[in-house]
Amino acid sequence: MIGFKGGFNLMETYPLKFCNIIEDISSDDAPETFQFQVPGQKVEHVIVNLCPTEPWALPNWVILKHKTIEFLNMLKEIKPSCFPDAKYYIAINNKEYRVVEDAKGFACREDWISVFPLYAKYPQDDSVLLTKTILGMDSNFGQDMKLNGVLIFDAQTVLAMYESCILKKNVNSRFIVLSGTGLKENEIVNVQLGTSLEKILKDKVKEGVAYRAFVNGPLRGKETSDLSQKIDWSVNHVVVLEEKNRKVMFPMVRSDELIFTTNVLGELRRCIYCNYCDDICPVDLEPALYYHSYIRGEKHKARLYNMEKCIECGLCSFICPSKLELLHIIKECKALDEQK
Ligand code: SF4
Ligand code: SF4
Repeated sequence: MIGFKGGFNLMETYPLKFCNIIEDISSDDAPETFQFQVPGQKVEHVIVNLCPTEPWALPNWVILKHKTIEFLNMLKEIKPSCFPDAKYYIAINNKEYRVVEDAKGFACREDWISVFPLYAKYPQDDSVLLTKTILGMDSNFGQDMKLNGVLIFDAQTVLAMYESCILKKNVNSRFIVLSGTGLKENEIVNVQLGTSLEKILKDKVKEGVAYRAFVNGPLRGKETSDLSQKIDWSVNHVVVLEEKNRKVMFPMVRSDELIFTTNVLGELRRCIYCNYCDDICPVDLEPALYYHSYIRGEKHKARLYNMEKCIECGLCSFICPSKLELLHIIKECKALDEQK
């Protein structure tokens, strides 16, 4: 099932290999504890996202441990105490054949759960696209879906809910993916909440390289230079990219290096009207219009072209051959609108 026109399959273009040893990293302070509050309003739909669409996202095997049925049985135990009336939907990458087969086998014996194998094209797992694809429901970026009776969880949150609400365990750590050209290798770590980025990246960054670190990835996340930042439950991955001061020949065939974000050696220029940004936008916007309004000094006018529909996926900036920071422009215009 393909739920939208644009998007891009990053998983196929930038396949990442991870070291399969998972290191535990402890916090120097008392770790925080995962808390889950059952929402006050009625929950009608619970979507479990097993369809990561970013190469640097946590792979399903870390949580599922190749035991999909056990994972689904956890959901079955969570259901009566947390969301007794909800219908459950499992979104799974359709290329994970074994997981899809096991989940379908499980779901055909249960009437509360449905399985949705999805093409893992970024940003299919965004909440706006996921609810549209699975529930046929329209929503806006940043909308609190709880108010519509919809909850979306990733696999790690389901596991934490099971351990804290059902097993009554103290959950104070989470898996974080570390990847990128600035690191010695791509790896997954199990980090106590409250641990600093500095401690997590210690001895993992390549020696002698200049680098840029992105918390929650280069497309949707934030670049940070503050390594004292602590890990909380919102951090999923950290991407560290080597800052290059030389041009890379044929970057498109060296996709495993994830070199697409750092160097702008001469490429930064005006819009060349290629329309790549329009074609890739998963919600049918025309990001070049925002750029043209912006450089004319008409930031408020940019807001007129359905900007509120933008899901901030970053694909327009990613694809732009002129390396225009389109998402940055969009966020600036949105913020301007909020201040009015
Ligand atoms: S960041 Fe917004 S405008 Fe750009 S591709 Fe994504 S949804 Fe479209
Ligand atoms: S991708 Fe960049 S250069 Fe091409 S139309 Fe969009 S803004 Fe212009």
